Amino acid sequence: MERLDRFMARANAAYYATHDPFADFTTAPEIAQAFGEVLGAWAAITWQLMGRPSPFILAEAGPGRGTLMADAQRALARVAPDVVAAQRLILVETSPRLREVQAAALPHATHVDTIEAIPPGPLILLANEFLDALPIRQLVRRGAGWRERWVAGGTFIEQPSDLAAAAAAEGAVVEICESARAIATQLGARIAREGGAALVLDYGPAASAPGDSLQALRAGQRADPLADPGAADLTAHVDFAALAEAARSAGAATQGPEAQGLLLARLGLFQRTDRLARGLPPRQAAALLDAARRLAEPDQMGRLFKALAICHPCLPTLAGFET
Ligand code: SAH
Repeated sequence: MERLDRFMARANAAYYATHDPFADFTTAPEIAQAFGEVLGAWAAITWQLMGRPSPFILAEAGPGRGTLMADAQRALARVAPDVVAAQRLILVETSPRLREVQAAALPHATHVDTIEAIPPGPLILLANEFLDALPIRQLVRRGAGWRERWVAGGTFIEQPSDLAAAAAAEGAVVEICESARAIATQLGARIAREGGAALVLDYGPAASAPGDSLQALRAGQRADPLADPGAADLTAHVDFAALAEAARSAGAATQGPEAQGLLLARLGLFQRTDRLARGLPPRQAAALLDAARRLAEPDQMGRLFKALAICHPCLPTLAGFET
């Protein structure tokens, strides 16, 4: 018998070490190159607002195939070469297989295992679909208290819990991601001390709400999260309100969460897509526009996905967070 968070950590470590996750799911940077390009532009604007520190750390957590950062680097080299000259590129990745793929895409980057291991200095950090893979605990409301879900033989078993949450209806499930909160606390403390901003993009509601969001994807299909650990990618909704609170308690400011679609539109996703489509055969141009819409339309990834910025309290409104 294993507590759910330990089961999920073990299953995902095995999964990322042995699978090409991108055979099972796709992510925004793999859908459209304009995604990484406009996030590169966001980093350049943030660097200006920070007072153009040189050197500074440009980091990405969980870079997958390295596509987002490679697209961002290409855009930066074109429109903001000062940023490229000042950056020290750091990738936070635990999977040896993905490290190899990332090193091929970004030969000038250095790998570290954890966010804590990022070298000191002013920081700009990007993280897309990183926190949703971190292990969660699930509490179940029983009577006037809470029980906790453990996993045994492919099913849940409820055990006494040392955690509690705000009162909820009988049987309601409340999720807690301690590692995501710890990361928000670390980032908040570091950014408050040394300056900078982190942009976290992931899926989840803007306000904390009860509900079981654990899901498994295997070969693009929903699968049973408890069956066959290591064979499927396990994720859960990110609790943005809890992250923002953790970062602020550590001394940082936060902006958002904002709907991904609004952020991307404000950063010029569609203008960039039009530019890329110019001169292409109509079918290819239409495919580019479709991809951009998939990222930004409210009924696709535009609303469920959110962006949260954790930043130094002295920074003004960051690009994309204007209300
Ligand atoms: N950001 C990428 C990939 C998302 S998949 C994209 O948008 O395409 C999640 C990524 O986080 C993978 O690179 C995975 O290996 C990495 N990862 C998962 N858990 C991690 C952990 N605890 N520490 C560091 N990296 C982790």
